[in-house]
Amino acid sequence: MQLTYNTFEAKLAHPFTVSGYTRTTTPIVLTEITYDGVTGFGEASMPPYLGESQASVIAFLEKVKLEQFKSPFELDDILTYVDKIAINNTAAKASIDIALHDLVGKLLGHPWHAIWGYTASKTPLTTFTIGIDKEEVVREKTRETSAFKVLKVKLGVDEVTDKMMINTVRSITDKPIRVDANQGWKDKHYALSMIEWLSERNVEFIEQPLPKHNLDDMAWLTERSPLPTIADESCQRLEDIPRLKGVFDGINIKLMKCTGMREAHKMINLAEVYGMKLMIGCMTETSCAVSAAAQLSPKMDYADLDGNLLIANDCFNGMRLIDGKITLTDHPGIGVKKM
Ligand code: MG
Repeated sequence: MQLTYNTFEAKLAHPFTVSGYTRTTTPIVLTEITYDGVTGFGEASMPPYLGESQASVIAFLEKVKLEQFKSPFELDDILTYVDKIAINNTAAKASIDIALHDLVGKLLGHPWHAIWGYTASKTPLTTFTIGIDKEEVVREKTRETSAFKVLKVKLGVDEVTDKMMINTVRSITDKPIRVDANQGWKDKHYALSMIEWLSERNVEFIEQPLPKHNLDDMAWLTERSPLPTIADESCQRLEDIPRLKGVFDGINIKLMKCTGMREAHKMINLAEVYGMKLMIGCMTETSCAVSAAAQLSPKMDYADLDGNLLIANDCFNGMRLIDGKITLTDHPGIGVKKM
């Protein structure tokens, strides 16, 4: 097994603002693992606020010695070893995990959704995200979303801005909206009054309304909220799920947070035991990582897999959307072709 990697800079089609940050590019590292003439593709995407960089990913990948394993079919042992090399580094770990899954799926001749026994037709709709921006930009962006049946709107600034965002989207369309406050609301009473206001405007759920460590207030809010609450920043890995039971109604799984497809699959199983709703999300990523996430999507109540659509220089062909619905193919592995 041979691991190789290259840096890649994803250029964003529009500057992207979430609560606290604006940016025009996302640093990425693309990985390949080759075995017996077959190559699997992987990716690490590093939004700056998560603490990883191209340099930290490459420093991590330099420590990964795959030669000690006989074959990629030792996937579970390989990824347990990779996880133990260093703490954190979740995107770097995901870049190995995704490439290894792609490779093993190709060697088996099946896509991962089929290997897991997921029904391909059960894929959800995906949202398209509208970031925080000036009123005229929000209006223009909303008009460009005709291909999507559900929108995701970023909030979490202040009451005037947040209500302007929703009112502006609502001046263009009545489509269902999912709201992500990205920890932007600091007070539980204020958050509840905002959620009550949103619940009268065809909003389906609220993602991460409060700061990630504020679980006591979050449990208070979920108990009273007229809309389901979904953990994003509060839920990184499998080990986080038990303490989120009763605190949120559901979790947003992202491959770059949770080290990849292997752990995401375990998170689905555990969240199902707890009766929590499931959502799959992504960073700004190429179609490589987005297509890997799409393999898990038949199990999801909600999906936000628009990361590949936000970049102008995608270098993979993969997951397709038909009428805003994630559509899986029979292509083996994660189902991507390099362009
Ligand atoms: Mg989020």
